[in-house]
Amino acid sequence: MASYSPAILDDIRAGVDVVDLVGRFVNLRKAGQNYKGLCPFHAEKTPSFMVNPKKGIFHCFGCGVGGDVFGFLMRQDRLSFPEAVRVLAKQANVALPDDRGASAAGDSGREELYRVMDAAAAFYVERLWASGGERAREYLDKRGIDPEVARRFGLGWAPEGWETIRAALTGFGEDALIAAGLLVTRENKPGTYDRFRGRLLFAIRDLQGRVVAFGGRGFGDEQPKYLNSPETPLYSKGNLLYAADLARDSIREKNRALIVEGYVDCLMAHQYGFTETVAALGTAFTAAQLGVLRRYCDEVITFFDADAAGQKAAERAEELLEPTGGGLTWGVNRAGAFDSAGSLRVKVALLPAGHDPDTFLREHGVEGFTERIAGSRSLLGYALDRTIGEAGSAPRARVNAFARVALMLAKVADAQEAAALSREAALKLGVDATQLWIEAQRLQASLRRPATVIGTATTSPAPPIFERDLVALLLASRDARGALLPLLDPAEIVHAGMREIVETIARVPEAEAPALMSELGTDAARHALSALIVDERPLTEDTVAIQQFRRRLERTRLSGRLRSVSQGVAEVQQKASSAVPMDATIVAELQQQGAELHELVGGSVPSLTPAVESSPDPAGPQGVHTHE
Ligand SMILES: [Zn+2]
Repeated sequence: MASYSPAILDDIRAGVDVVDLVGRFVNLRKAGQNYKGLCPFHAEKTPSFMVNPKKGIFHCFGCGVGGDVFGFLMRQDRLSFPEAVRVLAKQANVALPDDRGASAAGDSGREELYRVMDAAAAFYVERLWASGGERAREYLDKRGIDPEVARRFGLGWAPEGWETIRAALTGFGEDALIAAGLLVTRENKPGTYDRFRGRLLFAIRDLQGRVVAFGGRGFGDEQPKYLNSPETPLYSKGNLLYAADLARDSIREKNRALIVEGYVDCLMAHQYGFTETVAALGTAFTAAQLGVLRRYCDEVITFFDADAAGQKAAERAEELLEPTGGGLTWGVNRAGAFDSAGSLRVKVALLPAGHDPDTFLREHGVEGFTERIAGSRSLLGYALDRTIGEAGSAPRARVNAFARVALMLAKVADAQEAAALSREAALKLGVDATQLWIEAQRLQASLRRPATVIGTATTSPAPPIFERDLVALLLASRDARGALLPLLDPAEIVHAGMREIVETIARVPEAEAPALMSELGTDAARHALSALIVDERPLTEDTVAIQQFRRRLERTRLSGRLRSVSQGVAEVQQKASSAVPMDATIVAELQQQGAELHELVGGSVPSLTPAVESSPDPAGPQGVHTHE
């Protein structure tokens, strides 16, 4: 796996803060020496994903995945090892000796696409502020967009013309530009042309701030008014949120996200100081997008025009209450503030009819917007209102509405929210709240399904305690390596991951625990290593622990020798009974050795009477693995 020198990899590890890197994808909170959060690699409601900042290691005790910063980025961004090394080397400002091109083995080509998009974004930004960009700048001015905000968001201008970007990015192959969605292949004749022409461009970035797509707005009668990048290896619709990279820190800090529809709504919110705002890149936000936000905050507020609120809320609620949207948990008893991070409360702030956040902010400013946010209500509350309102007053319709409301409540993820909503709904339906609650609980029990694990990660069996403690000591202490490695036969270690770690330590005894990560050959071993590193079990004092393990390993070796001596004795006896002349000195020697060994291991002296037929003591220690 390691094609880069350990020294280089160490430099990169030292230069990248694992909490910072993981924190871009996971909402991490301090827990002892570690940080804790919801695992990005499997679906969970209670955090079992740990990050150890000192060692630069992460490990999930839910799905068993673990590793170092390289391993994290490989899994998160689906990169190859060399790709992850290059990305992190850049972040850590570490020069790689042999910076191989994008075509090098193991490079999936994504990295080249990132470079293409990066270069294109820089070109478009440059065009916006240069001469020729007047029309676009006038538009920004007219919409009240501050130039500073436009720059922060990386707004750009795609000039008129069919071959502008092709001519600007001569350093890249045409194939790469097509794959990045910048060029379109002509239908009826050979050749390509620019996708974006005469449009204001909004750069769409991923959580790491890399440009992955563009949204282009026309000014005149161009059709469509908004033209977006197609789906590419870097960009798939419905997963990303516009400005998530810029808003993330604010979202975490304020523990809430504002979610709007349009690019300009989003820019304007930031301009007015609501830097926790993201845009859905579509008319409606998706469950996947909420899944991203769930890692950073507990509450999402969306904005609906008062006229459309009921219908929109009903539509959104339907999707969000699907099991994939994160429902079905309130029956499970959960405690503690942290656990509420498992579910996300989606609220709606109403804007006056005809307004969107952009127009509202410009008309009513920060104060008005803040008031609207303060008055926001649960999205499900709106959806329930609609269900109840539609039912009318006929008795049969009320029964129907009761059933529909109970079903909806049964799917609400947050217990507190579900309880509050059911009280509200009961009042409006004119039924007993307890009755509604019981019905919802009954429905929930019948709806609940076992949680499924995403991806292929599987938990391998835990190692025996003796092996785990021994390897933990070897990882932590140089002295332990010197004292214990000579006594250890890796072949006797039962747990495959532990065995590989010991073999690797024996191979590179100088390597620190995190550096071993890139020396290991299998995921199983890496996951076992990260579990050990992240484990917070206090270790016994090194010298004491080394003594304990030394005694134990020596005993194991002695037992092994004793076994072979006993075997020798038995063989001699067999020969004796078959009347072959026996050498008295051999017997005496064996007997002597046996006695000494037994004293050391604390057993009894082996019997040399001919009654003993077979050799080894079946109850005796057989090897490292039988001790626990
Ligand atoms: Zn996990």
